[in-house]
Amino acid sequence: MKEYRIVLLKGDGIGPEIVTEAVKVLNKTADLFDFSVIYDEADLGGIAIDKHGVPLPEETVAKCKAADSVLLGAVGGPKWDTLPGNLRPEAGLLGIRGALSLFANLRPAMIFEPLRAASPLKDEIIKGSFDIMVVRELTGGIYFGERGREEIDGIKAAYDTEMYTVPEIERIARVGFELAQKRNKKLTSVDKANVLESSRLWRETVIEISKEYPDVQLSHMYVDNCAMQLVRNPSQFDVIVTSNLFGDILSDEASMISGSIGMLASASLNDKQSGLYEPIHGSAPDIAGQGIANPLATILSVAMMLRYSLDQPKAALAIENAVNEALNVAGTPDIYTDGMRKVNCCEMGDLVCEKLVKI
Ligand code: NAD
Repeated sequence: MKEYRIVLLKGDGIGPEIVTEAVKVLNKTADLFDFSVIYDEADLGGIAIDKHGVPLPEETVAKCKAADSVLLGAVGGPKWDTLPGNLRPEAGLLGIRGALSLFANLRPAMIFEPLRAASPLKDEIIKGSFDIMVVRELTGGIYFGERGREEIDGIKAAYDTEMYTVPEIERIARVGFELAQKRNKKLTSVDKANVLESSRLWRETVIEISKEYPDVQLSHMYVDNCAMQLVRNPSQFDVIVTSNLFGDILSDEASMISGSIGMLASASLNDKQSGLYEPIHGSAPDIAGQGIANPLATILSVAMMLRYSLDQPKAALAIENAVNEALNVAGTPDIYTDGMRKVNCCEMGDLVCEKLVKI
């Protein structure tokens, strides 16, 4: 029987509540699909500051590096908001991404049929459905380039530099192509090659790499057009691959067209594909401790973990199907609509477990 070692970083706010439900679903999935999971826990974010004085203790890094995969709840909250930047919970998040060399961030955006009405897009724009995967480069580009301030003729100025190397572009392009191969075999590379030199190198490199993936249909789109196309005709996209800055903006836009922050999962991958999985939402301090948080984004993050790090695609699909089935009958307060049973966080976890079937 296969055995996986998973580190849980429950974090702050609703983090412990939603991770508990995701673990419940993972345990039921393991029973159904004949694998076992050994859990370890480590501190990250506000809880780590309270217990160890730093947002990312070394012990947490060591445990995560040794694991097959990492599941994160969320970090942050008002209690730690006045601390200096390098001691805030969010610094722990950036730190763990760096320590694990997580260079590829995957964010799906899709319509959940029972929540169709939650999308801000009109029905005729959604045209049936959409299922997009945004692949964002996470450890290079302008967020990590040279930056500074200077004074030119008495006028204050500041600059940030966008730089990409060919190997950095090659490895993120490969992630995009390989994902497209497993989906609808369409990859859109997004850049600003009409203006930026770094984008021209990006485009040349993606075209070179495309020769290794003749079964994937590659197209290129300028970032401004892509931002527009996402709300004009989202169903044209399958996988989008782009730089850190463009991906930051486009992945938020893409995820919000599905309408519900409590539903969206994400994965951050490294060369070893071990990866860190987390919901895209934060620690929701306004509802923490009330037991009403929506655990589905975290549960869907577990499905991504099974697909991308643990090589259990059927188990991943079973969880996604169970989530859809659960939504047909019930919703947590954030997604509840007429005709649904209103359930709390724990009841939603139980319902997903109840709907899980082996495929
Ligand atoms: P947030 O995502 O925590 O909350 C925004 C709104 O969405 C709130 O009204 C919240 O109640 C609701 N919401 C979020 N997740 C929900 C869920 N699962 N179920 C039901 N409702 C949900 O964003 P915020 O309020 O801007 O940030 C709160 C804290 O989280 C801050 O400290 C911020 O820095 C941190 N944060 C952490 C992460 C992360 O850990 N990856 C991401 C974003 C924000």
